[in-house]
Amino acid sequence: MRFVELIRKKRNGHTLSTDQLQALVDAYTEGNLPDYQMASFLMAVYFQSMEPSELTAWTKSMLYSGEVLDLSEIDGIKVDKHSTGGVGDKISLILAPLAAAAGLRVPMISGRGLGHTGGTLDKLESIPGFDVNQSVARFKELVATHGLGLIGQTGEIAPADKELYALRDVTATVECIPLIASSIMSKKLAEGIDSLVLDVKVGSGAFMKNLDDARTLATTMIDIGESMDRPVRALITDMDQPLGEAVGNSLEVIESIDILRGEGPEDATMVTLELVAEMLDVAGKVTDRQETIDELRGYLDDGTALDIFADLIEDQGGDPEVCRNTSRLPTAEYTTEFAAQKSGYITSINAEEVGIAAMELGAGRETKDDTIDHSVGLVFNRKRGDGVDEGDSILTIHYNDADDLEDVERRLREAIIIGDDAPADTPPLIFERLGDSTTGDKR
Ligand code: URA
Repeated sequence: MRFVELIRKKRNGHTLSTDQLQALVDAYTEGNLPDYQMASFLMAVYFQSMEPSELTAWTKSMLYSGEVLDLSEIDGIKVDKHSTGGVGDKISLILAPLAAAAGLRVPMISGRGLGHTGGTLDKLESIPGFDVNQSVARFKELVATHGLGLIGQTGEIAPADKELYALRDVTATVECIPLIASSIMSKKLAEGIDSLVLDVKVGSGAFMKNLDDARTLATTMIDIGESMDRPVRALITDMDQPLGEAVGNSLEVIESIDILRGEGPEDATMVTLELVAEMLDVAGKVTDRQETIDELRGYLDDGTALDIFADLIEDQGGDPEVCRNTSRLPTAEYTTEFAAQKSGYITSINAEEVGIAAMELGAGRETKDDTIDHSVGLVFNRKRGDGVDEGDSILTIHYNDADDLEDVERRLREAIIIGDDAPADTPPLIFERLGDSTTGDKR
């Protein structure tokens, strides 16, 4: 195969065949296609996009570049959730045990945070002893025993995506809907799930800054799922301000435990309940949406979901006592209040800038090899729409190195806007529901 011809064909806007796309993915994964040719091809896709048939073939080639888990020996319906990433997005930690409490099996393979967005693995690793590196055999045991397993990507899952993502990262080809959709779906479908629910975030802290792009990404992933007989639903949810109150690894674990006790912030609780209800719906287990939501709240209030989380933590080598005593989690040495500069109403909070501020404190990594500080971060005391008097604390900064504070405070001053009047309207937590939802009203 003359790869230069394939690059030219894509560059000129033509459609490639399944065999041609598979040859590209296979050659690159096996080291037989140089980075400069794949980079050119990716840039051609960036400008020319992909036809649905191409996208299915491309995703399948990435999916089958490695191991596809077979979970058929585990009873029950296996459903996972994937978030496109945001700031303060700790939903996976709550959702997986809650969905397990409701009878689903959740084989969740997560990633690390990069840039302004946090990652589930980093949050889990703030629990002393918690080991996200488990063999496939052990992962299956965890899912069979607890109804969930929370692990990191193994080298065997979608290796083509690992190579391609690293190349995209340095060739300005990450922000491309077909490439994002195929990257996410190849990894998720390799988990051996029956169906998938997507949390597509939209707003200042999300990859997708506007509703049209979020909708296109969601429908592209739903279509890929459909082409492989995997039902996929998507909720488009608000990421125009941080979700919940905490941003930072250990702080988000504490907030997740609060939510699992039924005592956490309502926005993160509500989005989690809706996502789990959608997972149950796609599994055919919902007759009345509100009843399902009430039942799920019950599993938070009576401690069922928290007990499942504690048992899983113990089985993955972590300290389950954190669920009863969160002071066992890493704590930053110092705190300081970030105060309102004037009286008024918080009209907007730029979530991306908040995420970068947390990263500057050490909660995130700028490059893949940075180490992170699990204890630092931000806890909001006020959110968008709240009134403040000059000097009131908007958030608490948890830090270890006072040298970080000046930059962080400057960034926060620019990120948090206080106006004279309350914002005219409150954006919904859930903008739209996509896919063939049977019980959720489409918004
Ligand atoms: N997350 C992924 O897994 N892949 C992308 O391309 C973007 C976000």
